[in-house]
Amino acid sequence: MGLSKTLSESDVSLHSTTSYILTSPAKYKMPENSMPEDMAFQMIDDELRLDADPRLNLASFVTTSMEEKAKRLIMESLDKNYVDMDEYPATTDLQNRCVNMIANLFNAPLKDGEAATGTGTVGSSEAIMLAGLAFKRKWQNKMKAIGKPYDKPNIVTGANVQVCWEKFARYFEVELKEVKVREDYYVMDPVKAVEMVDENTICVAAILGSTYNGEFEDVKLLNDILMEKNKQTGWDTPIHVDAASGGFIAPFLYPDLEWDFRLPLVKSINASGHKYGLVYAGIGWIVWRSKQDLPEDLIFHINYLGADQPTFTLNFSKGSSQVLAQYYQLIRLGFEALGDLEPIYTFEGTYDINALGYREIMENCHYLAMVVKEGVEKTGRFKILSKDIGVPVVAFSLKDRSRYDEFKVSEGLRRHQFIVPAYHMPADAKHVALLRVVIRGDFSRTRAEYLLSSINAVLKELDELHPVAAIQENGHHKLSLNGVANGNGELPPAAAVENCHHKVSANGAAYGNGGTDTENGQMTDGAKCY
Ligand SMILES: *Cc1c(COP(=O)(O)O)cnc(C)c1O
Repeated sequence: MGLSKTLSESDVSLHSTTSYILTSPAKYKMPENSMPEDMAFQMIDDELRLDADPRLNLASFVTTSMEEKAKRLIMESLDKNYVDMDEYPATTDLQNRCVNMIANLFNAPLKDGEAATGTGTVGSSEAIMLAGLAFKRKWQNKMKAIGKPYDKPNIVTGANVQVCWEKFARYFEVELKEVKVREDYYVMDPVKAVEMVDENTICVAAILGSTYNGEFEDVKLLNDILMEKNKQTGWDTPIHVDAASGGFIAPFLYPDLEWDFRLPLVKSINASGHKYGLVYAGIGWIVWRSKQDLPEDLIFHINYLGADQPTFTLNFSKGSSQVLAQYYQLIRLGFEALGDLEPIYTFEGTYDINALGYREIMENCHYLAMVVKEGVEKTGRFKILSKDIGVPVVAFSLKDRSRYDEFKVSEGLRRHQFIVPAYHMPADAKHVALLRVVIRGDFSRTRAEYLLSSINAVLKELDELHPVAAIQENGHHKLSLNGVANGNGELPPAAAVENCHHKVSANGAAYGNGGTDTENGQMTDGAKCY
């Protein structure tokens, strides 16, 4: 491929360039002239290879694999702007079917043939902005009607909310009242939440699938005690459920769990189509319990084909592809597969998604989460912070953080190609750090096994880098083992007390003074004295 003469000098690192290889890509200013399409493609393609492999990105809930036919629908609809409902009534119709299906999945009290109230969004974040605005407007209308001030709305959530709630609060000027979490209880305590509710509370937002550890909040208990408070005060405070991750888990795995519109105070629910809805990034859903829960004055009406098309979104234009892909997934997979199916593992260890429905896919995710959880437990090094019932994630923290922390484990896993984030819990458990593995629909047994062997390898590497210090016994330190758990499956605490002499060991061999990190035998860096 020859270099186009149209490339500007400033964007060409070497004048003798004959291909994209010797050309540096434009970074600040648009190039003055065009270039051949192959060249533009190769330049970008080359850079993108530095990105991680999305399938090994265990940090994200967002779908990383879809079927060929779904991809075809996506590609074929890239030229359709969703907002042109007049021109694309069929696309609009398919979105409305998705809204109906999801509202029914969440047990909206709809009569036969009654259309559900809701809309597709770019993701749960937009869905939450819309839900929050609806609550705020409803509350304002109510306060105006009774002649009370309506300038200090607040919303009650757990401190474990996803960042989009903080965005909503800041962008739309609603005070966020957060129920603090505490060690060993990492979600919103419904009792404390209801205590924080006052006359200016526009809603209490519960999370089905806490971002931090996947745990479901107790929406039923929240509903019950909030009903009681509403009865006493006459306030009528509603509930929103942020089911971004759990909305496509609970209906399939825990159909008897009451978290949705079966609870009378739940007025709206969001879910991310691009998480366990199994669609690529760019789709979320918001559904309201009934038409009455979405204030009329927030809805814009568009008429097409004689029918009234209400719209309530932040964005005007957006692609149609994700909407169509969601409808494809819903009808293609269905609630469950026909007949009893054992998970099918193919040669490469991935189950055959073709044979499965949403339920089996979620069951497989849960099963693989348990495989990972057990493997992580088996190291003897971690405490599990996720629950067996919840979104299929495995969250865990080190039992012994004296030699290295979760961030070091995360870094180590990155060198094994896996992205497993480390982060801190929210207030008041900020001292707790954890690692989180999200099990998505494209996870597999093979990958679970690779992940576990990588975790073990990383622990071994870190153990060697940060030798186990001795156990303190009467000011004297005994040697400990080669990173292997002692009798009770736990590592001995690392060394020890200041002003005492530390010996450390690695591979069972004692170091002399020179083996410790400093000349006087004191441990440094990560081996704090207790
Ligand atoms: C992912 C997530 C969000 C944000 O959803 P997007 O679809 O990424 O905008 C909000 N809340 C919770 C609980 C989440 O897990």
